[in-house]
Amino acid sequence: MRVLVLGAGVVGVTCAWFLRQAGHDVTVIERQVGPGRETSFANGGQISVSHAEPWANPGAPRKVLQWLGREDAPLLFRPRASVEQWAWGLSFLHECTPARAALNTRRLVALGLYSRAVLKQLRAEIGLEYPYSERGILHFYTNDADFELARTSAALMRSLGCDRRSISPDEAVALEPALAVVHDRIVGADYCAEDESGDAHAYTMKLAERCQQRGVEFLLETTVSRVLVESGSCIGAEIVRADETITRLSADAVVACLGVQTRALLAPLGIRLKIVPAKGYSATFDITDAKRAPNVSLTDDEYKIVFSRFDLRLRVAGTVELGGVGLELNPARCDALTRRTEALFPGACDFSQPRYWAGLRPLTPSNVPYLGATRIRALYLNTGHGTLGWTMAAGSGELIASLISGRPTAVALPAVAA
Ligand SMILES: Cc1cc2nc3c(=O)[nH]c(=O)nc-3n(C[C@H](O)[C@H](O)[C@H](O)COP(=O)(O)OP(=O)(O)OC[C@H]3O[C@@H](n4cnc5c(N)ncnc54)[C@H](O)[C@@H]3O)c2cc1C
Repeated sequence: MRVLVLGAGVVGVTCAWFLRQAGHDVTVIERQVGPGRETSFANGGQISVSHAEPWANPGAPRKVLQWLGREDAPLLFRPRASVEQWAWGLSFLHECTPARAALNTRRLVALGLYSRAVLKQLRAEIGLEYPYSERGILHFYTNDADFELARTSAALMRSLGCDRRSISPDEAVALEPALAVVHDRIVGADYCAEDESGDAHAYTMKLAERCQQRGVEFLLETTVSRVLVESGSCIGAEIVRADETITRLSADAVVACLGVQTRALLAPLGIRLKIVPAKGYSATFDITDAKRAPNVSLTDDEYKIVFSRFDLRLRVAGTVELGGVGLELNPARCDALTRRTEALFPGACDFSQPRYWAGLRPLTPSNVPYLGATRIRALYLNTGHGTLGWTMAAGSGELIASLISGRPTAVALPAVAA
């Protein structure tokens, strides 16, 4: 089959790889000059199944209200006069009921576990080289009540097959000696040895090269202006090239992997996706004293930020602003990342030269991505991975390739209400 993959983020490129492996003739269309230049560019790097719980849970509405209007809140909701944003908010509340939260957790963990296994297998099979670490993810707490709640989540995760262990401060520091500076403040931690971390952008670039070597075509600096539908079937896409020429590409199947842009592109077809941009920030520092920098990927629960090390770079990422699509850097948020990193790992990096970045997570109300067929024949979705797009990209790509190839999927796909 001739398949068009729209978007060359981590999700689109991985999907293209598995489609090609399944024997399809694949073309990837990307508006940027290269793959992985938007949300997949400088994320937190964590392959984190152990913390795949959705944000929509019974305790979330109270927390969001507490944080409303606080510029330094881990999750900042900027109310706007936008129908989409309010519709998204109502759906989010619906997903906060205990029954919905439990269902979404099961789906996310199943997809996460599968995806993590597919990533490990892919890397081993083709010897994909990019900076990554298999030392697990350690999530540390400085507040007793939060750690107690985390113990319950850890038990739930274990019951779902994800080995997240609650450990003492001593055990946490033994696993990651760079945390010694804040040993006294840590009240406990979770550790998942199977989780990992890696540079999503480097992975996306390397995998795109491998795709090209195996015959996948990349149309870069090319914007998809329309998805073409005739008699209820998707027949291809209209594209605008860098020289502004407009071309219609025909296809037997089209997969939309456009991150936050997917909603706008498919809305004219009557496909109403509930995806909002959830802005986040990262800072990347050059490591100057390797012993003081963490080797294990970390999550600082108090500040809701993550740390991943890619060789001699340390990435810190986090914060969520819902509403608004701008990528401008808020200096207060950027400074907060640097201050916290320096407080935790003094002397580890050159903190005078931070490289700041902001990206827009494509967030659904349930955190569960849109993965599968739509009601338009031959049009598929692989989008809306929110906070966990890097974690879930490998499994999502393999599942969509199986679906399009008419093979049974290894994990049940959540119904796509579109
Ligand atoms: C601060 C931050 C930290 C994060 N940390 C983590 C983490 O630790 N672990 C994790 O799993 N996830 C993390 N994420 C989330 C993860 O980065 C995203 O879920 C993931 O990058 C989404 O990938 P994507 O391919 O769907 O979207 P994108 O990477 O945005 O790719 C979509 C592509 O489509 C292209 N495109 C859009 N419209 C068009 C068009 N009309 N025509 C042609 N091309 C188009 C874009 O240029 C883009 O390249 C983080 C995100 C942020 C912002």
